[in-house]
Amino acid sequence: MMLIDSHSHLEMPEFKKDLEAVIQRAKESGVGYIFTVGTEKKDWTRALEIAHSHPSVYAILGVHPHNVKEIDDRTYSTLRDLCRDGKVRAYGEIGLDFYRDLSPRAVQLMRFREQIGLAKELELPIVVHDREAHQETLEILKSEKAEKCGGIIHCFSGDYEMAKECIEMGFYISIPGTVTFKNTGGFQEIIKRLPLESLLIETDAPFLAPVPFRGKRNEPSYVRYTAQKVAEIKKISFEKVAEATTENALRVFKLEFSFSSSPHPVE
Ligand SMILES: [Zn+2]
Ligand SMILES: [Zn+2]
Repeated sequence: MMLIDSHSHLEMPEFKKDLEAVIQRAKESGVGYIFTVGTEKKDWTRALEIAHSHPSVYAILGVHPHNVKEIDDRTYSTLRDLCRDGKVRAYGEIGLDFYRDLSPRAVQLMRFREQIGLAKELELPIVVHDREAHQETLEILKSEKAEKCGGIIHCFSGDYEMAKECIEMGFYISIPGTVTFKNTGGFQEIIKRLPLESLLIETDAPFLAPVPFRGKRNEPSYVRYTAQKVAEIKKISFEKVAEATTENALRVFKLEFSFSSSPHPVE
């Protein structure tokens, strides 16, 4: 039995003191692989460093919508170089955040389109961040023909119709720890209706810790609470959720698993 945390931020300062212990605890809880997302320039090389020093860690690099206002003429060429590293398995997280609005909306829209283009050029799947911008996110995914790269809608917060449209474009829906909260505003009903073959699980650590750690620092080992909740919602076994979400993650990140070595890219 193996779990995969498809989205975390191990390079963030919250893990500076005890990163090795965090990665060890994940291993002991059955988390075979962790994908860590470098969201801005200062985090990219750190994410890669962590990935290179741990066989169980892979990297995802891109510019988060919060940070797109900092993109300059060198940003994309730097990313182009870094993303050729075999440890980088996706481009992201990219998208729109109209909740916090830390970059102007017009800039977010433009940079989202540009970065989908870059991911297609690099032949990497994209990891999409969408907060309170569902309509605009869908529109851009469609008009930029994102089905050509496919990828993941991380921390999914849209409705069932949106999930269905994303799945039809070849995207996976990633479920965060918030699914364990008491009031999920209909999210559990959506998960009940979505096919297991399209679901991933994630922590988004250090954020969004699941119950019973709500409010504390999140870490990849806690992804099993999310798997447990998905099993409960769908009335299937924990093992089945683990197996399906692991297979899905290996497929979207184009990794082949073998027990004798760390996963390697599918040629
Ligand atoms: Zn995000
Ligand atoms: Zn994130």
